[in-house]
Amino acid sequence: MSTVRAAGERAAGEAARRRTFAVISHPDAGKSTLTEALALHARAIGEAGAVHGKAGRRGVTSDWMEMERTRGISVTSAVLQFAHRDHVLNLLDTPGHADFSEDTYRVLAAVDCAVMLIDAAKGLEEQTRKLFDVCRHRGIPVITFVNKWDRPGREALELLDEIEREFRLKPTPVTWPVGIAGHLRGLVDVRDDAHMLRYVKAPGGAREAKEELVPADRAAAEEGGDFAQAAEEIELLAADGAVFDRESFLAGKSTPVFFGAALGNVGVRLLLDAVVDMAPAPPARELTGGGVRPVGAAFSGLVFKVQANMDRSHRDRIAFVRVCSGIFERGMTVTHAASGRPFATKYAHSVFGQDRSSVDVAYPGDVVGLVNAAALRVGDTLYDGPKAEFPPMPTFAPEHFAVARPVDIGRSKQFRRGITQLGEEGVVQVLVSDRRGEQAPVLAAVGPMQFDVVTHRMAHEFSAPVTLEPLPYHLARATDAAGAEALNRSRLVRGEALTRLRDGALLALFPDRWQANSFRREFPEGRLDHLIAAH
Ligand code: GDP
Repeated sequence: MSTVRAAGERAAGEAARRRTFAVISHPDAGKSTLTEALALHARAIGEAGAVHGKAGRRGVTSDWMEMERTRGISVTSAVLQFAHRDHVLNLLDTPGHADFSEDTYRVLAAVDCAVMLIDAAKGLEEQTRKLFDVCRHRGIPVITFVNKWDRPGREALELLDEIEREFRLKPTPVTWPVGIAGHLRGLVDVRDDAHMLRYVKAPGGAREAKEELVPADRAAAEEGGDFAQAAEEIELLAADGAVFDRESFLAGKSTPVFFGAALGNVGVRLLLDAVVDMAPAPPARELTGGGVRPVGAAFSGLVFKVQANMDRSHRDRIAFVRVCSGIFERGMTVTHAASGRPFATKYAHSVFGQDRSSVDVAYPGDVVGLVNAAALRVGDTLYDGPKAEFPPMPTFAPEHFAVARPVDIGRSKQFRRGITQLGEEGVVQVLVSDRRGEQAPVLAAVGPMQFDVVTHRMAHEFSAPVTLEPLPYHLARATDAAGAEALNRSRLVRGEALTRLRDGALLALFPDRWQANSFRREFPEGRLDHLIAAH
C-alpha cells in the first residue's frame, strides 16, 4: 500500500475516534465545574495540572498574563484533551464573563458539537442565546445539560418548553430526573427505564456522589411518588415523540437533554458517554468554491484564533489551528493558502491553558498552537498536498463601538499601521464612516475586552497610544445602498451610524433594537439583515 494511502487511512481512523466540542453557557451556569467533572471521569491526556480551574493559576510573566492577573480573567482559550472509552475528546474553552469576545464565537468554528449548559433555576440566559445562535448558523449539533438539579429550580417540563419555544429546537430527554430540582434522588436513563440511577452523597463531604443502579420496582417502592412521577413524565414525553433521533440532532433540529449536577458529579458520566456516542466525529469540511476536504486527505487546518504578544521577551504570536484533515507532524512545511507561501511548523505546541508543551503529531479534530505565526490570520487555511481553502469566518454582530484616535498626531502613521494590523488579525472589527474618514476609524467589538487589547497593543507594540471614545450604539445590521441612502436621509444619522467593513460591506448602527425596528418601519425599502448572534 502506498504511504499516502496508509497515512490517509490512519488519519481517517484517528478522526473517527475523535470528538471535538465546546460548552456554551452563561457565566455561573457551571462550565468550569462541569469541565473539571468531565476531566475527572475521563483520563486527561497531558499533564494533570492541565485541568483548568479558577484557582491556582501559575505565576506567569508576559503582559497578557499581567492583564489576566489584574482582572482575574482568562484570555487564553484553553484546549483540554482527554480519553474516554478509547475515544479522544477535545474540549475547547469558550471564554465568558468579562472576557467574552469575538474569540468566544470563533471557537465554535473549530468544534463539531456543543454542550449547552443550562442552570436549572435560570433556564436560557443571554450568553447562551448568543452562542446558540452561532451554533445554529454553523449547523453545529447541540447536546443540552440541565445543571444544578441539586438546588431548587424550575420544573423539568417547563425548561424543555422554553428550549422548544425559544430555539425552535425539539428537546429529546435522554435522562430524566427523579425528584424535583432541589430534591434530587436520581436519574432514569430513558433508554433503560427498568432502572433508576440513584445518587447518594458520599460520606465525609466528598464532592463526588455515589451512583447505584436500582431496579424499577425497588425504586418505585423506595422513592414512592418521585419515581412514579418520573415514570409518568417519561411515558408522556415518549408519547409526544420526544425521543432521541440522531438524524434530527445532527441536522440541528433536536437536542438530546441530560439532567444532573456538575458539582456532585451527577449525570456527568452519561453526558460524557453521549459525547462519544452521539456527537459527530470530525467531518469532511467544505471548501471555498465548492467541494469538501475529506478527513483522510492530506493535512489541512483552520486558524480559528490568533493571540499575540503572550510572551514579552519574544513578542511571539500563537495561532490556534484546528486540524481538519490528514496528519499534522511537527516540523512539516505546509502552505499558507492566503499568501501561497510556505509555512514551517517547527514550533508546534499543544496548548493546555497556560501550559505549553511540544506536540509532535495531531489528527483531525485536534488543536495545535503554532508559535511565530506572524503571517497567520483568523480564518486562514494551512494545507499540505492538494490546495485547500476554507470559507472565511463570518462577521459576528458587534455590540460595542468606539472611535479611535491617536494621542499624538505626529504618530498617525504608526496609528494607521497598528489599527490596520489589529483589524486584519481580528482583534477588533475596523469600520470606516464616510463622515469621519480613515483618520478616525470606528472600532467594533463583541465584548469590551477587545478594546482593552487594542489600547494595550497600540501603546506597547506599535508605540502609538490611542484614545477610544465610546459611541452610543449597540446593534449592527447589514444593509445595502437603498438602506444607506435611507439612513442618510433619516434623522438617525449622527456621523457614524453608517459604516463600512473592510470589504466595503455596509453596516447600519443603532442604539438599540427599538430604534432599528422603527427605522425599518419608516424605510422599508432598505435591506436590514441580522448579523450572526445579533439580537
Ligand atoms: P462558570 O462561570 O460557568 O464556569 O461556573 P462555575 O463552574 O464557576 O460555577 C458557578 C457556581 O455554581 C460555583 O459556585 C459552583 O460551585 C456552582 N455550581 C456549579 N455546578 C453546580 C451544581 O451542579 N450544583 C450546585 N449546587 N452548584 C453548582
